[in-house]
Amino acid sequence: MDNKRLDAVVAQARRDALAREGDYRARALKLYPWVCTRCAREFTHANLQQLTVHHRDHNHDNNPPDGSNWELLCIYCHENEHARYLDSQAGGGQEASTEAASFKAFANLKDLLGK
Ligand SMILES: [Zn+2]
Ligand SMILES: [Zn+2]
Repeated sequence: MDNKRLDAVVAQARRDALAREGDYRARALKLYPWVCTRCAREFTHANLQQLTVHHRDHNHDNNPPDGSNWELLCIYCHENEHARYLDSQAGGGQEASTEAASFKAFANLKDLLGK
């Protein structure tokens, strides 16, 4: 095993993930007006960092070019959205879950809903 090569691969993967994240945010901000979908708060360049991109299916890797999986939410509504999502998933003391940790659970939910 060549550790240097492995390091390089890991570093590249990390860069790719970061690039992807920056990419979908930029695309979402181009696609949608700078308004929180929930509370209708409006944003400008001055406070744009408080406007975040939410993934409707909670899967950060699902970034269709038409933006159908994105929703612009202010940080407060975004937090709320995830709290509600976790609430709806609750029922048996699940571990504190991040968006990343809930990917799998949500994939099953989609099947259950017969999407
Ligand atoms: Zn909001
Ligand atoms: Zn989100």
